Order: sequence, then structure tokens, then C-alpha cells
Amino acid sequence: MDVNALYQDIILEHYRAKSNSGLREPYQAEVHHVNPSCGDELTLRVNLDGDQVVDVSYLGEGCSISQASTSIMTELVIGHGLAHGLELYEEFKEMMHGQGKVELDEDRFEDAIAFHGVAKFPARVKCALLGWSAFADAAHQATEGQGADR
Ligand code: ZN
Repeated sequence: MDVNALYQDIILEHYRAKSNSGLREPYQAEVHHVNPSCGDELTLRVNLDGDQVVDVSYLGEGCSISQASTSIMTELVIGHGLAHGLELYEEFKEMMHGQGKVELDEDRFEDAIAFHGVAKFPARVKCALLGWSAFADAAHQATEGQGADR
């Protein structure tokens, strides 16, 4: 099977059956991010317990790439340390800006490797990064809130 067809299948599967879609409580921070060039919109909530990501939930609309990328991101960050999630975000961002020349480690990125093919299309890079940047933004807001409480 052609690798690009396989990647497309992974993206479509997540678009049809999104993981962790729907806003949930409790949460410490909620952000709303838009990608005007494509029309993607995303409201995302983060629930942290200390430095652990307990939950990420969201409500999004837009193209299959933005929706699938957000779905896959939640699977990779929920239940792990926040530092791990932000590290994945930095690496994913580097790959998306690498025009197809930067590879991701499949063991750590699982289905997110499917976006390697998208990195060759500059117009779609923001779609793939929307969920990740919303997560990083919400996580920063949540940690600032925790700091203020103590
Ligand atoms: Zn899009």
C-alpha cells in the first residue's frame, strides 16, 4: 500500500471518529483558536493535576486535517506529564515546518506520523498545528493559574 494512501486513511479515520471530542469538566483553562486561512475553529480545555495532563477535551469544526490532528494530539498527551506533551508539540511543529524533510519517531508519535505528508503543503501546516498550539496555550494558562493559587 502506498504510504500516502495509508496516511490519508489514518487522517480520515480520526476525522470520522474523533477521540476526546466534546467539552468536559473540570478544566483549568479554555482557549479558542482559529485558523482563518482555512476556516478551522477550535475550543479546547485542559485539566492538569500538578505536572500531569489529566484531560484534554475540545469542540472543533473545520477541515479533516485540523480535526484529525487534534484527535491524535489528545491521545498522545492525556495521561502523560505536561513536559512530555509540550516536547511532542515542539517536535511536531519542527516536522510540520520541515517541508517533508523532518521525520517523526513512530514509537512516540503513533498516528501523528501521518501528517508527514501534509508538511509538504504549506497551506495546510496551520491546520495540522491548530490543536497542538491550542493545547500548549491552554496548558500555559492552566499552569499560570496553579501558580497564582499557591
Ligand atoms: Zn484546515
